[in-house]
Amino acid sequence: MPDSRMTNKNGMVSKIQTRIRTDLFKNNYDLVGKELGRGKFAVVKKCIEKTTGKEYAAKFLRKRRKGEDCRMDIIHEIAVLESAKSNPFVVSLHEVYETTTEIILVLECAAGGEIFNQCVADNDEAFTEQDVIRLARQILMGVACLHRNNVVHLDLKPQNILLTSSRPLGDIRIVDFGLSRCMDNIKELREILGTPEYVAPEVLNYEPISTATDMWSIGVLTYVMLTGESPFLGSDKQETFLNISQINVDYSQDVFEGVSSLAIDFIKSLLQKNPRKRATAEECLKHPWLSGHPHSHLHSSHLSSLDEPETPEESDPEPESPASTP
Ligand code: ADP
Ligand code: MG
Repeated sequence: MPDSRMTNKNGMVSKIQTRIRTDLFKNNYDLVGKELGRGKFAVVKKCIEKTTGKEYAAKFLRKRRKGEDCRMDIIHEIAVLESAKSNPFVVSLHEVYETTTEIILVLECAAGGEIFNQCVADNDEAFTEQDVIRLARQILMGVACLHRNNVVHLDLKPQNILLTSSRPLGDIRIVDFGLSRCMDNIKELREILGTPEYVAPEVLNYEPISTATDMWSIGVLTYVMLTGESPFLGSDKQETFLNISQINVDYSQDVFEGVSSLAIDFIKSLLQKNPRKRATAEECLKHPWLSGHPHSHLHSSHLSSLDEPETPEESDPEPESPASTP
């Protein structure tokens, strides 16, 4: 694990390497098209770097939220993106700008949008099981890499998994490290609430959070990708939470029509109440549902960085991005 990381007891990292630019973002980028998306505190817009003509996604984050200074949360988000820069399935960070009110993250643009759109699409546009197998492998490789690095995402859901292209179906990019935590030197982490539908039972019960918490969300995510239905969603928050704590899941043929029993078995290995009984990301990759043709879906360029053990940031062989300080 990178020893340059400074993690506090809440799993937040306060040290970054990226140089924060204070010149005007608009001098260097043109905003184009409409919004790419938005979340609770961020708006994301497509932009073009004037000097290169390259497309990026600019995430505009307000520093003050509900009257509180959240600059350190944004610094943490930057730190986690930096620590994942050799992870091919995490969106890459190009530059950072700061104004009096905002911090702007200039990110690789994932032009295919959220996998959410295809999860809820009509039949001819929805994912096939073969698509889901390929995407699930990529999500798991990305998450396995984060977990090896002691990072837990804590907000894995179809809105935070993007595609490099939608047709033809490209590769996945994990985004939104706003709720993520770094578990270096941390014995126990509680609190933090993600999105109700995707949240694990231990989060609801205020029990310790771990990498297994992400694995629960991947179980929910896989369910949604295969069926188009959210397994725990109730008519209100209370009902959703009750469904989660009772593991009230419908595995019937009605919901899983045309889906293999191996896929259902895979989901069951993740939607386990006891975090210790849940499969890890590495174990998932060995599950028969996913281990049919290992690596056949990957470009060879992805393989080398995934097979290597974690490299400390100092000796990262990748060329430095223009924003990084030497
Ligand atoms: P929040 O923390 O507010 O949820 P996100 O990082 O999830 O912010 O971004 C909000 C939305 O913006 C995403 O769900 C996605 O639709 C879009 N988005 C975020 N990053 C990118 C990107 N790099 N490329 C394309 N779209 C993006
Ligand atoms: Mg988000």
